Amino acid sequence: MNKNLILSVLLVMILFFISATTTNAYSFNTRNWPKKPLQPYTVTLQYTTTNSTYKSTFTTAVSDWNSAQSKIKYVLTDNIAPNKVGTENVDDPSLYGTCYALNGSSLYFNAVINIGNPQIVNNSLTRRSAAVHELGHGIGLGHETPPVLSVMNSQRDRTKVYIPQQDDIQGVNMKYPY
Ligand SMILES: [Zn+2]
Repeated sequence: MNKNLILSVLLVMILFFISATTTNAYSFNTRNWPKKPLQPYTVTLQYTTTNSTYKSTFTTAVSDWNSAQSKIKYVLTDNIAPNKVGTENVDDPSLYGTCYALNGSSLYFNAVINIGNPQIVNNSLTRRSAAVHELGHGIGLGHETPPVLSVMNSQRDRTKVYIPQQDDIQGVNMKYPY
C-alpha cells in the first residue's frame, strides 16, 4: 500500500468518526423534573381518553420509556393526576401530536396524539411513535434534526423509529446525570 492511500483511508476514518460522534446531538426543553440522586423521579399521568386503542398506545409508550432509561419513571392512572395523556382532534394531517404545558406550569403537561391525522388513526406504529415523542417532551427532551436517529426528530420515519433511540437515552442521562 502506498503512503497516500493509507493517509486517505485514515482521513476518511477520522471524518467518519467525527460525523458519527456529532450526530449524537439531543436537545432539551425547559422541563426539568426535581429528581433526587440515585432514585428515579415518578411522573404520574392521567388518561383523559377512554378509548381503549389510544389508552393502550400510551400504555405502550410509557413502557417504552420506562424500559429505555431509569431516570424518570412514568406511571399511568385513570385517577386525577397532575399530568395528562390523551387525544386531540385537529384537522391537520401534518400534526401528529402535541405536548402542552398545563396552566403555565414549567413541569406539568398534557401529551396528546392527533386523531385528526389519518396516519395516527390507521397505523399503530405511527401512533406509538407519536406518543413516545410527546412523552419525550414530557421528560424534558427537545426536538432533534435530521440526520440524527431519534424519536425526537420530527422528520423521522414513524413506522420505523417508534421507540427511544440511543441519542434520546443519552439525552435523558445527560439531563439527569445523578
Ligand atoms: Zn415535538
